[in-house]
Amino acid sequence: MKKFLLLPLAALSFHFTSCAPVAPDTGANGQVIVQRPSNSLVQQGLKEFASIKSKKRISHNSTYNAQTQRVAARLKKVIIMPGARWEFVVFEDPTPNAFALPGGKVGIHTGLFQITKNDAGLAAVLGHEISHVTRNHAGARQKRTMGLALGGLVLDQVLGKGKSKTERAKMAAGYGTLATVGLALPFSRKAELEADRIGALYMAKAGYNPTEAVTMWQRFAAYKQKNSSKKTPEFLSTHPLDSTRINALRAYLPTAMKEYNRR
Ligand SMILES: [Zn+2]
Repeated sequence: MKKFLLLPLAALSFHFTSCAPVAPDTGANGQVIVQRPSNSLVQQGLKEFASIKSKKRISHNSTYNAQTQRVAARLKKVIIMPGARWEFVVFEDPTPNAFALPGGKVGIHTGLFQITKNDAGLAAVLGHEISHVTRNHAGARQKRTMGLALGGLVLDQVLGKGKSKTERAKMAAGYGTLATVGLALPFSRKAELEADRIGALYMAKAGYNPTEAVTMWQRFAAYKQKNSSKKTPEFLSTHPLDSTRINALRAYLPTAMKEYNRR
């Protein structure tokens, strides 16, 4: 009985956590304020990446691989994140996509290179993905997901009363799915905007003109428009693109340019 009483309280505390003001992303002198993930989240990220590598075809395209390692090397020099095990792997997949997992693992699809076009374009995407890691956006999302899962338990306890066993199982399964696909769920819009900003800052620190980030996201938006009749690729569904987002990045450019000119 005690357990049931505790559940709604736990759900409430999660609710408040998700509404708390976000920590600032950058401090003085444009340095990025790193948010460390929990050990269990890092383990999940490493395990997931190993599993993706064993299932998905790794690209042997020498141009794509050389470009990825060249850009990643420059970015790694300006990222301070103790304990990160950075790895950048190009996967054979025509959909323009990239992803990052806790622990510092980044995957890039071969289909992305038609949009990134050059080193600076790729630096914009890699910088964006790296920011998801250094700002622990997966941790924030996990909190959100756990809140949902707990909400599901509460629902089952409270609203499930009087419902048949099958109906209750169906409800629980719905929430269970949300909880288990945590790593695959999209980041919040706020996290995406933050990753755009910090990504531009990282690329500027690494010596790539951050103006190129705007051009690259515009190419992405054009691709989206051209392919709107087809099924939306994963990157576009998990990375919402619109003029608001591009304008937000454009507004941040003077700060990133300061960093670019400071070197
Ligand atoms: Zn993103």
